[in-house]
Amino acid sequence: HYKNTLSRIEQIQAQFKAPGTGKLKGKVCIITGVGSLKGIGRATALLYAREGAQHLYLLDFDETNLPNLKETIQSQYPAVKVTTLQADAADEAAISGVCERAIREEGRLDVFFANAGIVLVNTIESTTVTNFMETMRINALSVFLAVKYGSSAMQKTNPSKGKDRTGGSIILTASTAGIRSGAGPVDYSASKAAVNSIAKTSAYQLQKTDIRINTLCPGLIETGMTGATFDYARKRGTAGKIGQLNPLGRHGIPEEIANAALFLASDDSSYVNGQNIAVDGGLSASHPVIP
Ligand code: NAD
Repeated sequence: HYKNTLSRIEQIQAQFKAPGTGKLKGKVCIITGVGSLKGIGRATALLYAREGAQHLYLLDFDETNLPNLKETIQSQYPAVKVTTLQADAADEAAISGVCERAIREEGRLDVFFANAGIVLVNTIESTTVTNFMETMRINALSVFLAVKYGSSAMQKTNPSKGKDRTGGSIILTASTAGIRSGAGPVDYSASKAAVNSIAKTSAYQLQKTDIRINTLCPGLIETGMTGATFDYARKRGTAGKIGQLNPLGRHGIPEEIANAALFLASDDSSYVNGQNIAVDGGLSASHPVIP
């Protein structure tokens, strides 16, 4: 079974490298949390570039891998403008600043993918008030700022103001942990439930602005965040057991979340609004079962 998992993953990775079809042609996009080499943000930045985005504003508070991401995009997709920024996604001035910058430089903002997030692995007993507040600040406050300043920037170029725009899309990364009880820490689950709620409430409040707001709820994805678990399992020879209770029998990869983030960013999802979309192989739809 594990062999099948690996060949399925290779297949998905190969499809990801297929030529783009211009789904984001002319779109100006902000993505947060792009700095991890194996992360969802980086995979999405590469996919948005492949799909012909006009300008990508890419933000992470860890600047280590930002130059590499910029060079990779520019060598593969030279027509795409890339601006990388070292900033905290939960910093109000940084987020209002990048939204204003997009309007100043490009006259528009089409997509805001608020993806930055952290997990501090803790039990209820060991979760401190400081942990709890920091998880909430980074995971929940950051998406509120993305909605507040992203939607304000998008409305400046709303078609009702005579501009040629076909709506904006704000995409927030939540988690299956925000939909159902998770094995993860309580502060993380609570912060992701807040993200799901922010999307629904904002989609309602921003009615008639032509701005869509949705969340993506990944299941278990092999990224920088979860890498240690996978490395440990590989070392012990138990990697094949990861994801075996998932209806698809495997974990997911960042490219699979990026594909969903492309759907939500593009006009293919023009009537999808206020939804919490699980991209989890069916995990959140299933019951815990005994193996
Ligand atoms: P990752 O650790 O590989 O990448 C996250 C990136 O976000 C890192 O580069 C980190 O530096 C950046 N970041 C964290 N806090 C930041 C901040 N305040 N400002 C700017 N950048 C910041 O992890 P990932 O799995 O790619 O995580 C992306 C999102 O997906 C997160 O919101 C995470 O909670 C969510 N998620 C991940 C999984 C999973 O299994 N990997 C499951 C559900 C949800």
